[in-house]
Amino acid sequence: MKAEILLPLPVPGTYTYLIPPDMEEEAVFGKRVEVQFGRKKLYTGLIVGIESGTGDQLKMIRDILDDEPVIREIHYRFWKWMAEYYCSFLGDVMNAALPAPLKIDSETVLQLNVDHDYDEMDLEDDAFLISDALSIQNELTWGDIQEILQKKSINKNVNELIDAGMVDVKEKALRKNTHETVKTLMWAAEYRDNQKAVMEQVSRSKKQTRAVLAFTTLRREKKPPISRYEVMTKSDTDHATIRALIKKGILLETKIKKNFLGELIFRKGMLPPLVDFQKKALAEMEQAFESTPVVLLEGVTGSGKTRLYLEWIRRVKEAGQQILFMIPEIALTTHIIHRLEAIFESDVIVYHSRVSEKSRMEAYHSVRFGAPLVIGTRSALLLPFQNLGLIIVDEEHDRSYKQLNPAPRYHGRDSAVYLALLSDARVILGSATPSLESLVNVQEGKYGHVMMKERFGLMEMPEIQIVDMRQVQMSEEQAEIGFSPQLLQAIHQMLDAGRQVMVFQNRRGFAPVFLCDHCGHVVQCDSCDVSMTYHKFSEKLQCHYCRKEKPVPKECPSCHFWSMKMYGMGTEKLEEHLQSLLPDATIDRMDYDTASGRKRLERILTRFSNNETQILVGTQMIAKGLDFENVGLVVVPRADQLFSFPDFRSAENALQMLRQVSGRSGRKKEKGQVLIQTYNPDHPVIQSLMSGDDRGFYQQELEERKVFRFAPYYRMVKVTFRNKNRKKNTQVAYELYHYLQASFGDRVSVPVEPLVSYINHYYLLDVFVKLHRNRKEGTFFRKRLNHFIREVKSRPGFSNFRMIVNVDPI
Ligand code: ADP
Ligand code: ZN
Repeated sequence: MKAEILLPLPVPGTYTYLIPPDMEEEAVFGKRVEVQFGRKKLYTGLIVGIESGTGDQLKMIRDILDDEPVIREIHYRFWKWMAEYYCSFLGDVMNAALPAPLKIDSETVLQLNVDHDYDEMDLEDDAFLISDALSIQNELTWGDIQEILQKKSINKNVNELIDAGMVDVKEKALRKNTHETVKTLMWAAEYRDNQKAVMEQVSRSKKQTRAVLAFTTLRREKKPPISRYEVMTKSDTDHATIRALIKKGILLETKIKKNFLGELIFRKGMLPPLVDFQKKALAEMEQAFESTPVVLLEGVTGSGKTRLYLEWIRRVKEAGQQILFMIPEIALTTHIIHRLEAIFESDVIVYHSRVSEKSRMEAYHSVRFGAPLVIGTRSALLLPFQNLGLIIVDEEHDRSYKQLNPAPRYHGRDSAVYLALLSDARVILGSATPSLESLVNVQEGKYGHVMMKERFGLMEMPEIQIVDMRQVQMSEEQAEIGFSPQLLQAIHQMLDAGRQVMVFQNRRGFAPVFLCDHCGHVVQCDSCDVSMTYHKFSEKLQCHYCRKEKPVPKECPSCHFWSMKMYGMGTEKLEEHLQSLLPDATIDRMDYDTASGRKRLERILTRFSNNETQILVGTQMIAKGLDFENVGLVVVPRADQLFSFPDFRSAENALQMLRQVSGRSGRKKEKGQVLIQTYNPDHPVIQSLMSGDDRGFYQQELEERKVFRFAPYYRMVKVTFRNKNRKKNTQVAYELYHYLQASFGDRVSVPVEPLVSYINHYYLLDVFVKLHRNRKEGTFFRKRLNHFIREVKSRPGFSNFRMIVNVDPI
C-alpha cells in the first residue's frame, strides 16, 4: 500500500510513500506521519490519500503519529480550494492550519520550565529576559533558542539553560497525542468544603489569600479544568504562590480528561429582549436565509448588530452546531470576549495569531471535539470544525481580513463564505459600512441583505460637523499642529461637560519626516525608499517598512548645518501638543507603539472605559468596534490623509474609516458630535458622510469600478517581483507582462512600481491582471502563471527568483 503525503512546505503537490505492512490498518486519511524528505530531514506529513500497489523507489513512512485523524476530508477540500483560489501551495495552507506542535520537524523539543523559580538561580539578571523571550513560544527547537539568545544579546548557551533547570528537554513522544488530558487545580480532600480552614492556613500571605479567593470564584463560575494560569492571572500572583498552596496541601494539581464539549449555556437575564426594529431585522434575516446561506446585515453603528449575532448564536447552539465568530483584528478580541463571557457560562475559545502555541493546540483539539463557540481572526477558519452551523464575520468590510504574508494570502470573509458552502453552514456578514464586494453580491442576488438604520435606545446618530480648513486663519506654527480654534473649543466644551473625546490620527510616531531646513534633505531609511519617522519616546528614527532604527542626526547628513526640523504629525506628537494645549486633561494614546502587547492594550482600554482618561488619541485601532458610553466627541484633525492614497479603494476605505470612528461618539447617554477638519469639503466622501446616506456614493463608486475594470467586477491579481538585482527584476517582470498579454490583452498592466518600491534592499515591481470572475478563467490564469514561474525558475541562477502572487489584493 502507498500513501499520498502532504508536507508543510512550499512545494507543489504531494509525495508518495510506502506504508509498512504492519501499519496498513492504522494508516488512514488525516493522520500525521513521520517521513524522511530530502537527504536527512524528518518531517511531519499528513496522509491525504491511500492506494494499493508498491514502488521500488519509494521511501517508507517511518511512523504514524496519531491515533485519530487530525483533519477530515472536508477540511482538506477547504485547504485545496484555498491553495487553488489564492495561487499558493497546499503545504502553505497546511502550515497555516496546523499548530506548531502538530508539525514539529526536529528530534528534540525544548520547553521553558514554567515551574522554575527564576529568582533563585544564578542567571539572575538574564533570567527575566530569557523567560520573557522564550515564553512567546511554547515548544522550541535548539536552534530557536539559540537564535533568541543571540537576538537579545544574552550571553548564555542552550546547555547552560538546561543545566540551570530553566529549560526542559522533552522527548519526541510529545508529538503523539498527549493533548486529551489537561492539568487542573482542585481542592485537596480535607479542604474541599472547609473554606474557613483554608483561609486560616493562608491568612499570613496576601498573595496566597488572593489566589485562594480567585480559585474559589473560578470554581463557582466554571467547570474544570482550572489551570494555574487562570488562577495566577485572576489573582495577580505567580507560580511560587500556587506551588506554596500545593505544598501546604490545600490545592492539588492533577491531570484530567478534558471535557471538550463544554456546554454553552446562556446566563439568565444576560440577553435583553430585542426591540421592535431588531425583531423586524431578525425576521428579515430568517426569510433571507430561506433562499441564500449568506446574509449581509447592514446596521448603523449602535443599532445592535452584536445583539442580533447573539440571537443567532443561541439558535445555532440549540441546534447542536458549532459557531465561529470572526473579528478582523486581535486588538478587538478583548472587548468582545468580555462581552461574550459575560453571557455564556462555558469557555469561549479564542484563536488568533498571538495566542501561545499551547493555546492554539488546545483550541485545535477542542474544536475537533466539538467545542461550541470560537472567536477568532481569519486563521480560525482553518480549525477542524466538525459540525459548523454559523460563521459571523463582524466588520466584514475590514481590510485586516486579508492575509498579506506569508502565503496563503487569503481573505477571511471570502474564505468564510466558501467554508460555509462546504459545511452547509450559514454566514452573517455584519457591517455599518459594507464592502463594495458584498454589495455587488447582494445586487447580483447571491447574498441576502437586511438593514438596520436606527440606533438602539433611540440614540440619535452623532452630528457631523466639517471644519473647512481653507477658511481657518492660523499662524504657521498653529497650522503645523493643525488644531483649528473650533476644534479646540469643541474639546474644551466636551471636557467641561464631563464627557470623553477621541482623536483619530491615522499615523503613528511623532513626526513623519525629519527634514533639513537649509538644504531640504530628508532622512531616509538606508534599506528602503521611504523617509523615516521620528519616535520621541525612543528618541530614534524608525522606518515603518522594515522597522530599522537610526539615531536622530544633530546636523544635516547632507549639508552639515545644524538645521534638522520635524515636519508633519503622528499620534505621538499630536498627543504631546494636545497635552500642552490642555495641561489639565488626562490624555492617553492607543496605537501600534503603545498597545502592542495585550496587557498594555487592556490597560489603555480599561482606563478609558473607567473614565480615568479624558482624551484618547489613536490610529485606526480606536475606530473599530469599541463601545464606550461616555464619548461625546470624535475629532479627525486630518481627514484628507485618508482619501489621498493612490489606491482605487481609498475613497471607499476613507468613508468606512470615518463612519466607523464617528460611530464611537454618543453611543449611550446623549447625542454625540463628530468634528472633521478637511481642505476638501466637497469631496464625495465628506459629502456622503454629511448627508448620512451612502447609497449615492456607493453607486457612483461602483460605476467607476465597472468602467475602469476594477474589483469587485473583476478579480484582480497582483504579481510582485522582489529582487535585490534591479535589472533582473525588471527584465522578468516585463517578460511576464508580455507573456500574459497574449492571453489577457489589455487586462494586464505594464510593470509598475508600488508606492514604496525599495524595501529592505529589495526592488519591487507589480504586474496587475484583471480576470473575469469565473472559475474557468481562474483556472486558465493559474495554469499560465505556473507555467511561467516554472520556466523562470528552471533558468540557471533563477531557482530562487521570487514572485509573490496576491489574489484579490487589498
Ligand atoms: P453594533 O454592534 O451594531 O454597533 P451593539 O450590538 O454593540 O451595536 O449595540 C449598541 C449598544 O446598545 C450596546 O451597548 C448594546 O448593549 C445595546 N443594545 C443593543 N440592543 C439592545 C437590546 N435589545 N437591549 C438592550 N441593549 C441593547
Ligand atoms: Zn526601511
